[in-house]
Amino acid sequence: MSDGGGRKGVRIGVLAVQGDVAENVAAVSSALKAPRGFEDDAVLQVKTAGEISRLDGLVIPGGESTAIGRLSAAGGVLDAIRTRVNDDGMPILGICAGLILLARSADDRTVGRLDGQQLLGVLDVEVQRNAFGRQRQSFETKLDIRPLAISNFKGVFIRAPVVCGTGPGVEALCELPPGAGDSSGGDDAATDAGGSPRRRIVAVRKGDIIGTAFHPELSGDLAIHQYFVDAVRRKMRG
Ligand code: GLN
Repeated sequence: MSDGGGRKGVRIGVLAVQGDVAENVAAVSSALKAPRGFEDDAVLQVKTAGEISRLDGLVIPGGESTAIGRLSAAGGVLDAIRTRVNDDGMPILGICAGLILLARSADDRTVGRLDGQQLLGVLDVEVQRNAFGRQRQSFETKLDIRPLAISNFKGVFIRAPVVCGTGPGVEALCELPPGAGDSSGGDDAATDAGGSPRRRIVAVRKGDIIGTAFHPELSGDLAIHQYFVDAVRRKMRG
């Protein structure tokens, strides 16, 4: 458990195993300063179970979920994160591959069931990796994330997953607007094999655990990192 005694600032870690680490460090640092931070606020690149144990909040960046999962399982880092969530309710922002790692289960649009993928399982959602196939590996679309009072947010999707099922207590914060991310007539259409619309949830929250399928650190808009930093500050103050 992190020791808040005497500190005013928060310690936010960015899991620095693979992926979009520097961009998230920059986004968290800027969000910590707005509108006015504390001298002892810190953003730290973390890689070990010991470092995880001293954080007030953690960002799991985008990258390759298999690589991040495998490398983090190795030093007990996944176990350390699970313990902090279960024992202390540590806030986490999981982005793209980070959202996949948070999930209870994941499959892959192209290869189907995944054997041996390491997941944290702390967020009761099912995700489909690489949900937009090869046609539309990357795209941008404007998003309204109403429960967070964030509108017109530039959603940057890079080989992104979608959330296709949510368990009790998990709130869908935002779905992809119709047509977004679809390629013309290919198998990326917004309907499933039976012709019914696929639910394409791209942001979820359960308490202080937040997952986004898109990359807020690449949007030039700090709103989501700001929301997360505020959640970490609230949690630390109890
Ligand atoms: N496709 C990657 C995965 O499945 C996620 C991509 C990303 O994080 N931008 O892990």
